[in-house]
Amino acid sequence: MKYAQLSWLAEFIFPNFCCGCNRRPGVVICDSCSRHLAVYKKQTCFWCRRETPLGIMHQPCRLNNELILQGVFSIFWYAGMAGRVLRSAKYRFHNPTALDELCRLIPLSHRFDLFTLQRYIQAQAITYIPLSNASKRRRGFNQSEHIAQYLGAILNLPVCALVTKVTETPNQASLDKKARAQTRNHMFRASSKGLRSVYLVDDVITTGATMRAAAQALHNAGITSIYGITLCRS
Ligand SMILES: [Zn+2]
Ligand SMILES: [Zn+2]
Repeated sequence: MKYAQLSWLAEFIFPNFCCGCNRRPGVVICDSCSRHLAVYKKQTCFWCRRETPLGIMHQPCRLNNELILQGVFSIFWYAGMAGRVLRSAKYRFHNPTALDELCRLIPLSHRFDLFTLQRYIQAQAITYIPLSNASKRRRGFNQSEHIAQYLGAILNLPVCALVTKVTETPNQASLDKKARAQTRNHMFRASSKGLRSVYLVDDVITTGATMRAAAQALHNAGITSIYGITLCRS
């Protein structure tokens, strides 16, 4: 039996259901679910969470807190459909198809905003938060790298692997808060590959600690301008 026939048969016996509602077969995200994606409309300051254009951090917030990131731009709210699709891609299917579909649904308004941001930032490349080797083996793909590739195609920028995860981090649960923050600061190493300005991509931002640590590593490597882009924000 040919591969095409086999895959048709596999789909017939085990049909794919919409990963948002888990009801409609044969689609990755159905129309109804794609209409329920909550778009992160008003960009906010990474530090004080007040509204700011394109997520550019307020100068006092940045300087008073010695933050490396210039700002963070996000596309969807993690709560709701986008988060569900993202979790499906990562933990249920171990397959980036749902993630591709979510990227395809990035609204036109946000694509325009990304162009505007690029006119202002003039980044030379896009990099992303790495996974540990064990997680990448388990999942088969790095979701942040996948999103970076998609954004690279939108902005016509190369995607470079600049950050690596230092695997020898002790068990986080056994550490107190201060020690945990310290190990997080040493969680990543980075190289600049001669670049001065990059976007740093992650799938979701919650406390922002991971992104801060990776930005610090990039800064230590000599990159002076680092701007975060995340597919989802919680
Ligand atoms: Zn659905
Ligand atoms: Zn602020």
